[in-house]
Amino acid sequence: MEHALQDQVAVVTGGSRGIGRAICLSLARDGAQVVAIARDLDQLTLLAKESREAGLPGSITPCRLDMTDREGIDDAIKQIMAQRDRIDILVNNAGITRDGLLATMDDDQFDEVLTVNLRSAFWIMRAVVRPMIGARRGRIVNVSSISGITGNAGQANYAASKAGLIGLTKSIAKELGKRNITCNAVAPGFITTDMTDRLPEQTKEAVKPHIPLRRFGTSEEIAAAVRFLVGPEARYITGHVLVVDGGLSM
Ligand code: NAP
Repeated sequence: MEHALQDQVAVVTGGSRGIGRAICLSLARDGAQVVAIARDLDQLTLLAKESREAGLPGSITPCRLDMTDREGIDDAIKQIMAQRDRIDILVNNAGITRDGLLATMDDDQFDEVLTVNLRSAFWIMRAVVRPMIGARRGRIVNVSSISGITGNAGQANYAASKAGLIGLTKSIAKELGKRNITCNAVAPGFITTDMTDRLPEQTKEAVKPHIPLRRFGTSEEIAAAVRFLVGPEARYITGHVLVVDGGLSM
């Protein structure tokens, strides 16, 4: 049986846990050859093993890389191209929070979040669009956040990085549409992962009544949106921000 993403090479950043892990599995389930990037090689190796044991039609290959390492990113993309000769899909999902109030936020706290969440996405997109332009085909999805649309008290650094990703997404969509490269963003609301597990129980309970669907989302529900945007069904969609938040931000 032919799968929708059969033989397509997909690069997914932040693949070791949470949403990124679910994205890797979802793409491999549809036949993609996924290169999963993160710093934690053990978790990536476990993920690759899980995909093999599940007999998924695609594959997951671990790539240990810190997304703050610009040269490392360029080298990794060169290596993937040397081995596979194509990159069809890029999902920028790696992200961190270092929350705090503006008055006491230090430069490191701001810069680190901007580097992991935004600058790294610029670096890897720049490296990946070159082969995509050559192939006259590509699908890019950036994992933003509703914080980047609505803003969020205590998250000036994070919200700025996620709003930046939306600007990057729309600009690239305009720049590279003529090359048959689409670029979209997914903006999750509250999703149950390590990132939200760190929040105090009280904060989480206080948010739930404001979510029309009355619960946090799952990583799989974000992966489904990403899978849609990289697949053939979304070929005429570009520059879009798909909000997946149970209705929270409307
Ligand atoms: P998570 O469970 O904390 O996972 C974050 C992922 O990013 C991990 O795989 C981590 O891998 C990777 N990562 C972090 N720093 C990295 C670095 N320097 N280099 C390479 N990889 C790095 O978070 P999550 O909830 O799945 O979040 C995934 C994305 O969704 C993020 O961009 C986040 O901002 C966004 N998002 C999440 C929510 C939510 O409610 N959970 C809401 C809106 C948006 P290693 O630690 O192994 O490197």
